This record gives sequence, C-alpha cells and structure tokens, in this order.
Amino acid sequence: MSFKPDASPLSLPALRPEVASLPAYVPGVRAQTLDTAALASNESHFNPLPSVRQAVFGAAATMNRYPDAASVALRARLAQHLEATPDEIVVGAGSLGVLSQIMSAYCRPGDEVIFPWRSFEAYPLVVQLAGATSVPVPLRPDESHDLDGILAAITNRTRVIIICTPNNPTGVPVPHAELAKFLESVRSDVLVIIDEAYIEYATAKDTANSLALYRQHPNVCLLRTFSKAYGLAGLRIGYALATPGIAEGLRKAGLPFSVSALAQQAAITSLDARAEMLTRVQAVVCERERILLSLRSAGYDIPDSQANFLWLRCGDETRVPLEERFQSAGILVRGYARDGIRISVADAEANNRVINLLAAQATGAVSC
Ligand SMILES: *Cc1c(COP(=O)(O)O)cnc(C)c1O
Repeated sequence: MSFKPDASPLSLPALRPEVASLPAYVPGVRAQTLDTAALASNESHFNPLPSVRQAVFGAAATMNRYPDAASVALRARLAQHLEATPDEIVVGAGSLGVLSQIMSAYCRPGDEVIFPWRSFEAYPLVVQLAGATSVPVPLRPDESHDLDGILAAITNRTRVIIICTPNNPTGVPVPHAELAKFLESVRSDVLVIIDEAYIEYATAKDTANSLALYRQHPNVCLLRTFSKAYGLAGLRIGYALATPGIAEGLRKAGLPFSVSALAQQAAITSLDARAEMLTRVQAVVCERERILLSLRSAGYDIPDSQANFLWLRCGDETRVPLEERFQSAGILVRGYARDGIRISVADAEANNRVINLLAAQATGAVSC
C-alpha cells in the first residue's frame, strides 16, 4: 500500500494537552561578545572559586562511572551545614529539578498550586507539566506577597503553596513575623514551599528564619540552590529540606542519577568554601545598595531588593523602548511583558553602565 499525495494526514501520537498547550521554550539571550554585560539571569558574575574548579576537574576523572544516586556525601555535608539529618535532605538537578519532584510527588490533575504573581516564571510551567492547576495571587501594590490573598485562595484542592523570598523578579522578601503568622493559618495537609534561591543576599534584620519556621511546621519545605550566590548555575544542583517522610517521597519522585558526580562534588566543596562565597556576596550587596541610591536619586521608584537584582516596574510603553536601549548598549536584562524589567547586579563597571543608561533615560523625562 502506498500513500497518495492527497491522502488525509497521518495521525501522529497525541501529546498530553498540558504539554501541547505549553509555550515553546524561548532560550534567554546569552552574552555574545566580551563587552556584553550579562544581567538577565541573576547568575554570579565571578569566576568559579579555585577550590571548586579543582574539585570538578578531579570528579571529571571518573565520568565513565554513574554518580552516587543517593548523593550520600553531599546530603551528609548539607545536614551538617543546616543542623539537620540526611534523611531531611533531597538533592536534585537544580532547585527547579527538586520543584518538579515536588509536583510529581504531590499533585494530580485538578489539584491546585498557589503562588504569588509576578514571581519565578518556572512555577506555572512545572505546575502545568504535572497536570495541576496554577492559582496565581497578584502581588500587593508595594510588590510584597499578598499573604491574606494566598490564604483566601486555599481550597480543598490546594496541595502546595509556593512562597518566594526574596521574590524573583522584584527582590522583595517576606518578613519573618508575616511568614510566621501566615504559616499558623495554613492547613497542615498543604505543603508550603519556601523558595530561597537568593537567601544568601538577604541582609535585612527581619529576614525570615526559615529553618526555625521549618522546625515549627512539619508541612514546610525549604528550597535552596547552588545556582545563584554559589555560582554553580551551569552544573544544575539544588536541594530541599523537608520532614523525613516528605523528603523520602520527594527522593522517590526523582529520576535516578539526575545529579552528576561533578555537581555533587562541586556542591560539597562550595559549602567548604562558604566564607569565600560570602565575601563575594557582600560585594554584590554593596553594589546593589549603590545602584539603588543612584537610581532613586535619578527619580526611579524601585523597591528595596534583598537579592542580586533590581526591579523596574513599568508598562510595555516604557518597557519596550527601554529594553531596546539596553540591547543596543550591549546590556542584557530581563523584560517581562506588562510588568517591567529585572536587572542583575554584577561588577561595578557593568553596574555603572546600567546607572548611566537609566540616568540618561530619566533626564529624557521618561521614568518607570
Ligand atoms: C534561579 C531560581 C531558582 C533556581 O533554579 P535552579 O534550578 O536551582 O538553577 C529557583 N527559584 C527561583 C525563584 C529562582 O529565581
């Protein structure tokens, strides 16, 4: 039997509707030339720490072998760092990998996941991939989490709530007292994820003591990453701290061997080099405060950031031309349709380029 050119089209295997309706992945703009400032992805602009580079090269010598699927050594090292036990720790391919394990472990079609919005753009993606339903709760006008709104959005289908502090892309944290009060009001059968991807940059006095809150609330799960302050974005490693029964379920929901030996070794060595990392963080925090002062005195209304980026809220009529100006100046920033622009903090030279561009823009009488 042969096909006729006018035969009806073959019926190809059908995608799950959740997958078919996802937008195709658009890769972020990547640094193109030496003088491009890569301020779009909140990465560390520092070169990898020498001890970590060396550990990764050492681990590469055995890349013909599978990694330790249980990440035993890393979980022991993290347990020591967090004053926890290894059975409370889940390691994954980035904290996004862990988040996707959380969704597959806890969410069935029709289950609801509540998160603030605007927040990390991967949240609706992992929720939809799991077949669950996203319940975004708008930020308040001052960019803070609307915790009362989140409580009001809880239904009997709610399985997971995500709190992002400091929030990406606004940099605004949830203060300890507010988070503590919020957790008192959440049903204990709802898993509350506290995503602390930028916690190392949080210097405010009222920064949430998430470890203490986790000890008080067994339904709380902390999510952290080595991608940002630790500078291991390219190696894909993050972790969760959760009550042993929850952590065990999350580990079961992970694909075996998804965290490479290179990543495990890099993470262990990074924890050993934490003091060096914190010195770098301090430099970024100083720069963050310097940019904030400059831009405010140029007339910009920018929220206090507790992360390694700053947020310019603006509508598309301001955002689109501003993004074009950044682009032609060789500065990569992250724009969000209808909401604004996020700019990562890097070295003084790159930051000065941002300040100069925005100050010139402001004297042109346009401000965000
Ligand atoms: C960058 C980021 C992550 C980290 O993702 P990884 O998968 O660990 O690289 C998680 N949450 C938020 C809010 C982020 O901005």
